[in-house]
Amino acid sequence: MVFNNIVVAYDGSDHAVDAVMKARDFALADPEVRIHVVFVTTHPNAQLPASFNNSSFDPEQYLLSVEDVMDLYNRTIAEESEKVKAGLGVEGVEDQVSIDVIPGYTPADDIIEFAKEIEADLIVMGSRGLGAIRGVIGSVSYAVLRESTIPILVIK
Ligand code: ATP
Ligand code: MG
Repeated sequence: MVFNNIVVAYDGSDHAVDAVMKARDFALADPEVRIHVVFVTTHPNAQLPASFNNSSFDPEQYLLSVEDVMDLYNRTIAEESEKVKAGLGVEGVEDQVSIDVIPGYTPADDIIEFAKEIEADLIVMGSRGLGAIRGVIGSVSYAVLRESTIPILVIK
């Protein structure tokens, strides 16, 4: 298969479900194909303070302990992951699929960064998502199309 390491950007929308189904076709055609479903979540419990992973983090400033914050974070990511999993149609290729939930507010940048990290050779996404304003293409798809150096398959 020309594309073996495929990222599918998933936001729960019908277009994103169709994107997963198209990636599934690739996976069905070749057992070597890996599908990485990525969802960028804005869930507040998944947003750790910027200082959390470096020495400037001061636990005294927070009402919760570091353990509590990490516990809440891990539970939220797991719950979001379960929600994504429940919406996917990947029958027959489950073993070829992984799900990553990334906390953030810049889905396009986060999708591109993730795709680079795992050395993806294709990004599959919907032309539209959950946004209410109808048009040809959503802002996330538009930004990924503009910025990505990795080929993109946009599902209408
Ligand atoms: P807008 O968000 O600009 O109001 P929209 O919601 O209709 O418009 P987009 O958000 O660009 O359109 O969604 C297009 C595609 O981008 C989706 O089908 C999905 O593949 C991907 N996408 C959008 N948001 C996310 C996200 N948070 N995480 C992962 N993929 C996303
Ligand atoms: Mg959107």
